[in-house]
Amino acid sequence: MTTLKLYNTKTRTKEDFAPIDPENVRMYVCGPTVYDRAHLGNARPVIVFDVLYRLLRHVYGAEQVTYVRNFTDVDDRINQTAQDRKAAGEAGTLEELIRARSEETISWYHADMDALGALRPDHEPRATEFIDQMVMMIEDLIEKGHAYPAEGHVLFAVESYAAYGALSGRSTDDMIAGARVEVAPYKRNPMDFVLWKPSTDDLPGWDSPWGRGRPGWHIECSAMAHDILGAHFDIHGGGNDLQFPHHENEIAQSTCAGHDFANVWMHNEMLQVEGKKMSKSLGNFFTVRDLLDQGVPGEVIRFVMLSTHYRKPMDWTEKKRQEAEKTLRRWYRLFDGSVSQFKEPEFDAALKDDLNTPRALTACHRLANANDDMALFRNLSILGLFNGRVPKWAEQPETDLSDMEDKLKSARIAALESKDFSALDTLKNALLEAGVEVQMSKDGVSLKPTPGFDPSKLEALK
Ligand code: AMP
Ligand code: ZN
Repeated sequence: MTTLKLYNTKTRTKEDFAPIDPENVRMYVCGPTVYDRAHLGNARPVIVFDVLYRLLRHVYGAEQVTYVRNFTDVDDRINQTAQDRKAAGEAGTLEELIRARSEETISWYHADMDALGALRPDHEPRATEFIDQMVMMIEDLIEKGHAYPAEGHVLFAVESYAAYGALSGRSTDDMIAGARVEVAPYKRNPMDFVLWKPSTDDLPGWDSPWGRGRPGWHIECSAMAHDILGAHFDIHGGGNDLQFPHHENEIAQSTCAGHDFANVWMHNEMLQVEGKKMSKSLGNFFTVRDLLDQGVPGEVIRFVMLSTHYRKPMDWTEKKRQEAEKTLRRWYRLFDGSVSQFKEPEFDAALKDDLNTPRALTACHRLANANDDMALFRNLSILGLFNGRVPKWAEQPETDLSDMEDKLKSARIAALESKDFSALDTLKNALLEAGVEVQMSKDGVSLKPTPGFDPSKLEALK
């Protein structure tokens, strides 16, 4: 049997994966801060680590794997929304409104990630439910000389941990530049980071030996991972942007508290859109829900994500979306009602080679071309692209609206010549009624089916 190999950021090599206890394989992945809808980039780690979770369950047995992904629900942006709602007259205390905002965001997150075929982790701890464990860990760090209280804050003393920076391989200068460290009079070293900070009266806070306050972000993960998975576990994951400072700080805290912490550190690269960083200012920022609402199936989003290796930057493009939809439709149509457990070595070897999903998909292409649907559907299940049923969208015929587009173009030309727009309007309304989005500009017309598209309503127009 091929050995699973995973790239470990800590050692910068691909290593044979040897679980601490094959009966209890443990993975922690940093989850979202629940202040708003997940954007498409946030879905990348979810899909990548879902494939790893599925693969580990496949190799070690479903009951032998524990996957933890947290919700960060201590955050200024959550508080801000709650404060705005309160100011707008919404009923409830600030605490209740904060809680409601987190609940709302978590339910969106679940719905969106479910639609991408991601299994729910075994544990989804919320930071606010682990404050006691965080306080205990901070007290322990102070006692061991790795942290100090100052002006209502508690800071981690980076000089007390010689290996600080080892994960990301950064020098202190790089770290200072990269982290935009906050220089504060109460810090012994500008690199020292916050374990606990004071809360103002109008914000949520918890009683602690250092006064009413709230935890820093990094201590949340250290405390939750320790409480649920123990002092030593197998895999810790997240996006590349978390390597520094977040993961570096998690390692410093946990190691100094005497925990062995994670053996393997895995990081996915970032997602871009049409070659550009996704950002609100560039107008190319969208959420997973936006895509789903436009009628892009979750399987298609997942397929596009998996067609790039997780350690390479990935580019979301409209062209890839279209191609993925075509491929998946063709594959799903090969399904004859049964999934065998027949193994096809190339697929397994690819996936076990540090989750080489593009190569695994190439193996699927080959199987589909050879009409070997037995192995194909087993493989698609492991990738999370098949759950025993062909999705509804793939059963419907591919929509070809080019005839309708031609018709609309002619109607538009006729209307412009005759100045009588009634026929054009009638046609346009009928298209909208059938669930087709109509775009007309001076460059031409374009038609796009929406999720409510009903092809039978177009028959009468032909
Ligand atoms: P956040 O809620 O910002 O802490 O992010 C949640 C997860 O999404 C983290 O693992 C981030 O590393 C990851 N992430 C954020 N932006 C992107 C992106 N553009 N591409 C891939 N992963 C991302
Ligand atoms: Zn974390």
